[in-house]
Amino acid sequence: MAQYMENDGADDIPDLSDSDDDDQWQSMEESPDSNLKVLCLFCDRLLNSVEDTLSHCKSEHDVDVAGLLRKYKLDDYGYIKLINYVRSVKCSGESLLLAREGSLPWDSEDYMRPALQDDPLLQIDIEDLCGAECGGQGAGPWLEQNGEPQSPGSLMRRAQRAEERAQRAEEALARAMEDLHRLKQLAQSLVMSADVSGGGGGAASGGAVAGLREDEDEAYFSSYGHYAIHEEMLKDKVRTESYRDFAYLNPDVFKGKVVLDVGCGTGILSMFAARCGASRVVAVDQSDIVYQAMDIVRSNDLQDVITLIKGRIEDVALPVEKVDVIISEWMGYFLLFESMLDSVLYARDRYLAEGGSVYPNSCSLSLAAVGDERRHADRIAFWDDVYGFKMACMKKAVAPEASVEVLQPETLVSEPAVVQTIDCNTVCVSELEFEADFCLKITHGTLCTAIVGYFDIFFDKNCENKVSFSTGPRCTKTHWKQTVFLLEHPIPVQTGEELKGRIAVRKNRKDPRALLISLNVRDVKQTYSLQ
Ligand code: SAH
Repeated sequence: MAQYMENDGADDIPDLSDSDDDDQWQSMEESPDSNLKVLCLFCDRLLNSVEDTLSHCKSEHDVDVAGLLRKYKLDDYGYIKLINYVRSVKCSGESLLLAREGSLPWDSEDYMRPALQDDPLLQIDIEDLCGAECGGQGAGPWLEQNGEPQSPGSLMRRAQRAEERAQRAEEALARAMEDLHRLKQLAQSLVMSADVSGGGGGAASGGAVAGLREDEDEAYFSSYGHYAIHEEMLKDKVRTESYRDFAYLNPDVFKGKVVLDVGCGTGILSMFAARCGASRVVAVDQSDIVYQAMDIVRSNDLQDVITLIKGRIEDVALPVEKVDVIISEWMGYFLLFESMLDSVLYARDRYLAEGGSVYPNSCSLSLAAVGDERRHADRIAFWDDVYGFKMACMKKAVAPEASVEVLQPETLVSEPAVVQTIDCNTVCVSELEFEADFCLKITHGTLCTAIVGYFDIFFDKNCENKVSFSTGPRCTKTHWKQTVFLLEHPIPVQTGEELKGRIAVRKNRKDPRALLISLNVRDVKQTYSLQ
């Protein structure tokens, strides 16, 4: 190595190895020792450099050191021993040529000790020495100047070093990639074990759903882990564009605000809020879809604004004390199926700052009368004759199950009636179970075969541009469709008549995410389950 190392092109290759050796090499290249004096191996002459010394040995003493290395196939240690031996015993050059392979006089560990302190001859790279000689040019690497290669041998060495450096860089890169992979895994496991100790909600503050044990609710959250359900929701333009329009048409609602997205799914609502200038969005979801949301948020370069947390909103500790806005798409079939509004109300009571708002801010649940004898026959009368057999008992099983389907608007036979309105900023969980009278003004005299239920959603609090959408049968269909309550025994109705009834909506005690809906129409009561 040492002072005559040529520039091996290292500057061209990024050095990721961070090797001390390399630094040393560089500093040696940059500041050669101009006062160096090297004592000849065979006389008292002091020469200016190692190369001069070896040339001198060759011309004045007939000893070609490189030739000796080749002759006796000496490696680094053999070379060191040879130099120390010559200096110690002060032998003649001739005697060196006569040594016998297998019993070389310098082949003793004693000659590993330097005979001369800081002997420059011991600091050279024998590859340099041999390489150049072997290159057959008779010119040593020391003849190279200003980093200009002078021989094929030196070119070869440069190539070798470049290759070594490339290999070291490759190894360093592989190590860096491995570290990165480990970091990613660590981050993921940290998120997965998001502090679940900070909650403290429970049934008292969040209702029956908040009181569910994790294993009881597993099926619910795992259904949201699959991409398909999110694809269906995102493709529901009525739904998604309403949230988008509300945000984009009312950016002031979000600008500079801290926003909480309850049940963020793919993160779409959080990203709308972030695009409108929210200063921070905290997005929470218990389902595994949140891992996709992490990638999605990063892909859109919104990771500095949106913080994703995996866990139930009732259980996680948020990184903020209070939020200015809560957004959530919590609506299920017949509005309340899934009981996710309980979780939003929990979040509202726990995190919403004074003067803050929950969006959507209000919603209504409506009923209307349906006259569709064909559909009724297909579902009820069908059982009277099945391939010539009576199965009428099955009717009792069919009627009590509410069905989710798209209703043909021409089958509507009454005006709609709102049976419940919900102000998301003030309602409490207990009010989500209710009873109400209704009165349906009949528009077509016919047989009323069913009652249909649907909901409307409003974003109209503290904003300039109000947005709303309806899941009713006269509007563009949504993935919520409508909920149909079949009347086992149809009721004849007259145009202009008011069909009076009463509805009761309860959570199913056995499954708080499911609903039990009782309808009492003209003194006939039927309880329907929605599950
Ligand atoms: N906001 C998304 C997804 C809505 S679906 C969108 O608009 O596309 C409802 C999401 O809320 C689901 O991903 C579900 O896993 C999540 N969720 C429901 N209850 C929750 C709770 N208590 N805590 C955290 N996430 C909840």
